[in-house]
Order: sequence, then C-alpha cells, then structure tokens
Amino acid sequence: MIIVFRQGVAQADIDYVQNKLTEYGFKTNVSDYNGRIVMGAIGDDRALRERPLFTMPGVEKVVPISKPYKLVSKDFKREDTIIDIKGVRIGGGSVVVMAGPCSVENRDMLMYLAERTRKAGARILRGGAFKPRTSPYAFQGLGEEGLKYLREAADANDMLVITELMDARDMDLVCKYTDIIQIGARNMQNFRLLKDLGGAGKPVMLKRGLAATMKELLMAAEYVAAGGNNDIILCERGIRTFETETRNTLDLSAIPVLKSMTHLPVVADPSHGTGRRDCILPMSQAAVAAGADGIIVEVHQCPEEAFSDGDQSILPDDFDVLMKRLDIIATTIGRTLSV
Ligand code: PEP
Ligand code: MN
Repeated sequence: MIIVFRQGVAQADIDYVQNKLTEYGFKTNVSDYNGRIVMGAIGDDRALRERPLFTMPGVEKVVPISKPYKLVSKDFKREDTIIDIKGVRIGGGSVVVMAGPCSVENRDMLMYLAERTRKAGARILRGGAFKPRTSPYAFQGLGEEGLKYLREAADANDMLVITELMDARDMDLVCKYTDIIQIGARNMQNFRLLKDLGGAGKPVMLKRGLAATMKELLMAAEYVAAGGNNDIILCERGIRTFETETRNTLDLSAIPVLKSMTHLPVVADPSHGTGRRDCILPMSQAAVAAGADGIIVEVHQCPEEAFSDGDQSILPDDFDVLMKRLDIIATTIGRTLSV
C-alpha cells in the first residue's frame, strides 16, 4: 500500500508509522515529493485490522498497490535504484558497459579481452563459465576454472565480474568469484532459483525470458526482492518473434516502458538481442539513446573461432569505436558514460 502523509507532517509521526509497520513485519520505503511524504509498505494487511493505518498520526490517506509486483514497482519507490558495487554505480544518471566473451574459453583470451575492453572504458567483465546451450553436446563452459580466470582478469584490470548462475547448487561457488550474478533468459522463471537469490548477498542481473512479457520479468524480479535482495538489474535481451533475419527481436521499447514501471536499472544486450555483429553498434547506440542504464556486449578477438556466439561477437577494435559513440550519445542526452 501507499501511505500519503499530510502536508507538513512531523518527522516523529513518520517514524511512528514506519516503526509500527516494521513491527508488524512490513517492508517500507519513504519518498519525499517536494515536501509531500509518501511511504510504500508491503506486508500482511491482517496485522493492521486492529490498528488501521488511517488512524495513525499524520496519515492523510492509504492507497493499495494493485499491481502484482510491488517492491520493484515505481509505486513502492519513486527514486531510481542505484546499485553501488565497489564504487561502480549502476542506475541513476550513468551508463555502464559490461563486455567480454560469450564463454570463457581459456586464460589468455580472457586476460587480453579484459585489458582491451577496460582500456576502452568497460567497467564490468562478462563471460560464461556455465553455459546454457541448446544442444547437450555443445561446449558447456569451463566451470570453476573459468570463474577463476574471470576473477583474475577482472582484478588485474580494475573491473567487476558478471557471470551466469544456472543452478542453485552452484550458488556458493559462483558467489565466491563473481560480483554480479547473471540469471539467463532460460532461467528467468526458475522460481526456486529466484527464491534462492533473495539470500545470495550479491546483486543479480535478470535477463528477460525468450517469450516473457515485461510484467513477467518484473514478477521474476519481485521473487528476488521478496526474498530480501533489492539489488536487481533488468536486462532486455531480445524476444522471440516471427522475424528470422535476426536471432531475436531486441525490444527497445521495453527500456522506457520498464523504466516507467520500476525503479530498477534496465540494461540492454544487443548481442543476444540481434545475433548479428553488424547490428551491435547501431543497437547499442539506440539502447543508450532510449535510456538504458547500460549495455552488455560480447567481444572476441577471433569471432570465427569462438566456442559460442561468434556471429554476434565484435572485435576489440570495433568495441573501441562503440565506446566512443556511446560516450557521445550519453552526453547528448544528459547522462554520463561510466568509464
Ligand atoms: C549470455 O549472456 O551469456 C546468455 C546466455 O544470454 P541469454 O541468457 O540472454 O540467452
Ligand atoms: Mn552468448
């Protein structure tokens, strides 16, 4: 529910209501709209039967949040969530870039790609150590060896690590090495896994399912938030449509629409979103112009020999160009590229 306080309400009244709600097991968040105080509260309304909120001091009205997603909704919290990981801020006014190979293939390739992408301005190193492959015979990832390389390459270049967790059984292992847990499109509605992420103690990037609506993506995020983890990044990575020229259809409109529905940061993945190297630069530009808080892009020094997703991986030289363009676009729309 949303609790709207009277104009000029005393801080003691706000504190009273917040403390009462906390006592009843509610989660609360207070926003200030030019002096008008509004509190979002999520919990079991039955606790309030004997002491309705409207009888509490300073309360003007109480409005229910009718949406099925609550904690992640703009109704609950107006201000953008900013996730600060070791000084790298995701959300708010900055644009952050995550880059690296689809799969971690060996140490040398990753060390090289980390150095090149960091030099160009990427703050976060991506790479899969556990790969969700359509065929069970395709390369499945290096597992812990890959995680070690990611950590080493990121630390050597002052970067953060983002890597995919496919199975809750690997939670501790992945958390030992990563800064951000990536949940892939195919696991977006693995509710058991989502519940476990509530207690992961690490930020989560949730990729939109291949055929998931924006509401379903937000409901998946709500699972993580309801479990106690509010550091969630949403990722638009293309959806299945009738079009076959691209691997998926990158739904650019999801960026402004999601941002109107939630306070969580929204990033775009033009690599999986299009499946085509020639689309990465234009769609990255478009995503930032559309208001994305960042992009995640696949880079490989020899895409023709990549173990996975070579067709959609760009060369380090192309990544240099991309970063220069994103800087211009971010600045033009009043944001800053975080480098
Ligand atoms: C990935 O980013 O490595 C990946 C497998 O993406 P998705 O889950 O979006 O297919
Ligand atoms: Mn990939």
